[in-house]
Amino acid sequence: MTVDAPPRPSITELSPEELSAWLRDREEPGYRTRQIRRWLARGSAFEAMADLPAELRAGLAAAFRSSSLQEVRRSQADDELTTKVLYQLDGGYTVEAVVMRYPSRSTLCISSQVGCPIGCPFCATGQGPFGRNLKANEIVDQAADAARGLEAEGRRLSHVVFMGMGEPLANYAAVVDAVRRIADPDGLGISPRRITVSTAGLVPRIGRLAEEDLPVTLAISLHAARDELRDVLVPINSRYPLRELLAAADDFARSSGRRVSYEWVLLAGVNDTERDARELSALLRGRLAHVNLIPFNPVPDTPFREPDRQSIRLFAGQLRARGLNVTVRDTRGRESEAACGQLRARALAEGVVSR
Ligand code: SAH
Ligand code: SF4
Repeated sequence: MTVDAPPRPSITELSPEELSAWLRDREEPGYRTRQIRRWLARGSAFEAMADLPAELRAGLAAAFRSSSLQEVRRSQADDELTTKVLYQLDGGYTVEAVVMRYPSRSTLCISSQVGCPIGCPFCATGQGPFGRNLKANEIVDQAADAARGLEAEGRRLSHVVFMGMGEPLANYAAVVDAVRRIADPDGLGISPRRITVSTAGLVPRIGRLAEEDLPVTLAISLHAARDELRDVLVPINSRYPLRELLAAADDFARSSGRRVSYEWVLLAGVNDTERDARELSALLRGRLAHVNLIPFNPVPDTPFREPDRQSIRLFAGQLRARGLNVTVRDTRGRESEAACGQLRARALAEGVVSR
């Protein structure tokens, strides 16, 4: 990614119409818009846009930055299978994105907000103050940069999950716009089915998403199957309790024809007991559902602990015995400030970035 001077706008902020108008003013042929958009979707710098005349590349570079993001830190983990990048946005705010490489896929975990207004007590992102919503192009540019890096390794970005910083449905319009652009065949062309939107449970927005005709995978961060506990772990629950949340998820499953994924961060002694397994099974019984257990990734200054391996296995077994479809998420990225929000937290603590 090129690092340019701040006053120039990022070209990714322009709509296709605005880009066309800019090119028309320079008497460029109409097909240039599509050429340039294809390069931008793959995170290319202007100088790398091989099928553009040199003069146009120079003109673009003089007028714009090629991305809204500037990389400030990068860390590797899992024998280089996981890469975490901290980006600076306009205004000095920072967000993280994580690339995870698997044998048959490459997944990007993407951020939609600086900080998060929901404030779950176990989450690094939820601890700090809320910064701001990301613009659609700031979300898409994370995918473009990841795609560029993977392409250089001979890989292809195949999946995108909105499981980085922020609550995607609290930044609804920008997130839906970003999903459409990431799915656009003239952009990265990643099928919406391979894009997962994870939510703490903004019920009215789940309803709206169901009406978008955008068959993304919906992940619900459940973490508790009784309101009393969920009110504490996912504070938005006091506004949209479990009964309403499950009804919204069912509607989404019906209208999209897609199975909903339920996330459950395992907190030792808090939500990994037999009682929890019983309650969760009762709640999801008869539903087209998939449960994803996420061992808690320790966050400093929280009272929570990760269960040991045996407890994790036991809990998963109790759910399976009751007929649920369960996977245990691997603990990718552990060595390098692990779950999203933690690389940024450390950079903030060390004074490398200020917000
Ligand atoms: N705000 C959205 C999406 C981002 S969080 C949401 O909450 O769904 C993505 C997932 O990571 C959520 O399921 C969240 O509960 C989980 N998570 C947050 N902090 C975690 C931690 N320290 N360890 C493990 N999972 C965590
Ligand atoms: Fe926000 Fe999700 Fe973290 Fe909760 S878990 S504070 S909703 S980012």
